[in-house]
Amino acid sequence: MSSVLPSVLYIVATPIGNMADMTPRAKEILANADIIAAEDTRHSAYLMRHFDIRTPMLAYHEHAGESQTRKLLELLEEGKSLALISDAGTPLISDPGYPLVAEAHARGIKVCPVPGVSAIITALCAAGLPTHTFAFEGFLPAKAAARQKALALVAEEKRTLVFYEAPHRIVECLSDMCEAFGHSRRVTLARELTKTFETIRQNSLAELLEWVRNDDNQQKGEIVLVVEGVEYVAQSTLSDDARSLAALLVDVLPPKKASKIVASHYDLPTRDVYDFLLGLKN
Ligand code: SAM
Repeated sequence: MSSVLPSVLYIVATPIGNMADMTPRAKEILANADIIAAEDTRHSAYLMRHFDIRTPMLAYHEHAGESQTRKLLELLEEGKSLALISDAGTPLISDPGYPLVAEAHARGIKVCPVPGVSAIITALCAAGLPTHTFAFEGFLPAKAAARQKALALVAEEKRTLVFYEAPHRIVECLSDMCEAFGHSRRVTLARELTKTFETIRQNSLAELLEWVRNDDNQQKGEIVLVVEGVEYVAQSTLSDDARSLAALLVDVLPPKKASKIVASHYDLPTRDVYDFLLGLKN
């Protein structure tokens, strides 16, 4: 007997590359729901064929307006079971679905998650950076000025930061991160996760930028960047002498001024000295 219930909105995760990551429960729900709402029905047709699922699909994409959301809610209220999927991974995670789930709650419609893969967690668990607390930043703005502003806002974040990035912007993005976070901050690039050319590499931001810049293959495919939080780099790159001078100067100068002097004296990124001084203060 099917475990799919009428009038329930199922949020179903699908693989991010490796079809073997589809859970048995996801297959069962998709096969037995009355309707599948898919971000892109043509894209999801491949998944359906692969698992021999013949449930009718409706489109529910990023720009779905209120009327599309209302239509799905009405189907749920009429007693239909509905499974929401995105092109890959977990719906609503940098993918469509938020208005539908929010309005389902408002109308008292039951929402049932069917968990599986998401690129954030897949990258984070293999990144080799602290995982006890982290902040997911999704996609950074595409335009340079807006991206730099967004990075500046999280430059002092202590939690590990997770970003999604498009391959054609990866070099610009890493370069802006060097400026905003300091060249020595640790970063892990997680590319093509669960796929044939899966690449997971941890470096300093400057080293990773150099590596990606010199290898076109690293500028292709799907990418997650995991960046360490500020407190974890505070002491790692400064020599004892640089630290002593910074500690002395900050007694008589504001931290920004002290950082600039020490950075220029020891040829270090100002950001790294500033991070050290922040760590000292905390
Ligand atoms: N909903 C998806 C999830 O749960 O991860 C994310 C969808 S978002 C539109 C697509 C972005 O997720 C990609 O640009 C990339 O940053 C990341 N991503 C998805 N699949 C990936 C993979 N196999 N390897 C690395 N990153 C991936």
